[in-house]
Amino acid sequence: MLPKLHCHPWMDETIEAFRQEVRRYIAREMVPHLDGWRRQGYIPREVWRPLGELGFLLPEIDEAYGGAGGTLAYQLVVQDELASAEMPANTAVHTISAHYILDFGTETQKQRWLPKLTNGEMLAGIAMTEPGCGSDLQAIRTLARREGDEYVISGSKTFITNGYTANLLVVAVRTGGAGSRGVSLIVLETENLPGFSVGRRLEKLGQHASDTAELFFQNVRVPVDNLIGGVEGKGFIQLMSQLPYERMLLAVPAAAVIERAVELTLAYTQERKAFGEPLYELQNTRFKLAECATIAHVVRTFVNDAIQRLVDGKLDDTAAYMAKWWCSEQQCRVTDECLQLFGGYGYMVEYPIARLYADSRVQKIYGGANEIMKELIARKLPL
Ligand SMILES: Cc1cc2nc3c(=O)[nH]c(=O)nc-3n(C[C@H](O)[C@H](O)[C@H](O)COP(=O)(O)OP(=O)(O)OC[C@H]3O[C@@H](n4cnc5c(N)ncnc54)[C@H](O)[C@@H]3O)c2cc1C
Repeated sequence: MLPKLHCHPWMDETIEAFRQEVRRYIAREMVPHLDGWRRQGYIPREVWRPLGELGFLLPEIDEAYGGAGGTLAYQLVVQDELASAEMPANTAVHTISAHYILDFGTETQKQRWLPKLTNGEMLAGIAMTEPGCGSDLQAIRTLARREGDEYVISGSKTFITNGYTANLLVVAVRTGGAGSRGVSLIVLETENLPGFSVGRRLEKLGQHASDTAELFFQNVRVPVDNLIGGVEGKGFIQLMSQLPYERMLLAVPAAAVIERAVELTLAYTQERKAFGEPLYELQNTRFKLAECATIAHVVRTFVNDAIQRLVDGKLDDTAAYMAKWWCSEQQCRVTDECLQLFGGYGYMVEYPIARLYADSRVQKIYGGANEIMKELIARKLPL
């Protein structure tokens, strides 16, 4: 078994006990259903409710809004455990959405939505990407036109995680002129909302249990009170200011998946024989696994350091961009190397390594494509 480098100053006994609780719950209540969720293409919203009731959904939210008031490390531990168990990123998106309300919402907005997001009554999504723009978010076109005490929203979004299952969406809209200053974030409670519709649930290369959908807005009316923070034109700054935390929501699962891939491959190659001996006795297998185990170690060390800095309020944007691109790159590399050691079985989706490989690919694309991460790092050089 690969040693997990979970012992780190941020990982105290309370967090470790929390991790064990989360792990047991996922193994008992979620893992047995995962294949079924993959086949149907989504995890029903009701699945998240008990996680909310147990305090696993948004453990970092203040007690005043129904949370446990933990550090962000608690949320990252949940993401770590979900990724180790091959669960997709639905709750990462949920926490990102909740944090826009927590960090920028008015007191009324926080009281209104955070308790329901924390206890799992509501599942959230963040809708930024449009058919015409992803990386270049300043170009979004979904329009929110003010009419009296309402916004009238028209446009469309695509690739939205939880788009099919969420009942609350934080939507990036254009309330003003061109460019970043015209962008705002508006909350939509989507159940029975006239003019709102979910288009196709998109078929993906991996992450089959996670729903990713198109969304359409045809003169959707929402009260102006749903504008996050109550001031127009702040959306782009709000989106950018959450970045260090959001990048960690991708780097931590990368560490978890890498460790799982190495564990699976070690077990398989010790069992599987070729030319009269276990694959693990072949020097190539041993060297490849030694390389992958080293990567696992380095990634975990990097991630632990970044979590510590995040908890201490010292994680700068650039370090977070580095963690996102580099850890996701290693994740794709290691799952590819490990799959190769399974031979043909590695290509069969009934083998977890095949699913880890396919699920990993998107990590280099979403949450800010890796090329964008590198561009942002380059702008800050020399460090
Ligand atoms: C499974 C999945 C789930 C997703 N979930 C969500 C979600 O919940 N909410 C949401 O809003 N979005 C979501 N997305 C969208 C995701 O964030 C975008 O796909 C991503 O930001 C890239 O945008 P794009 O697809 O439009 O690619 P583009 O922006 O068209 O980029 C295409 C390629 O060009 C490169 N490129 C673009 N600009 C530059 C540049 N300046 N310099 C160098 N290279 C550049 C990119 O790196 C990329 O390789 C999801 C996507 C997927 C696949």
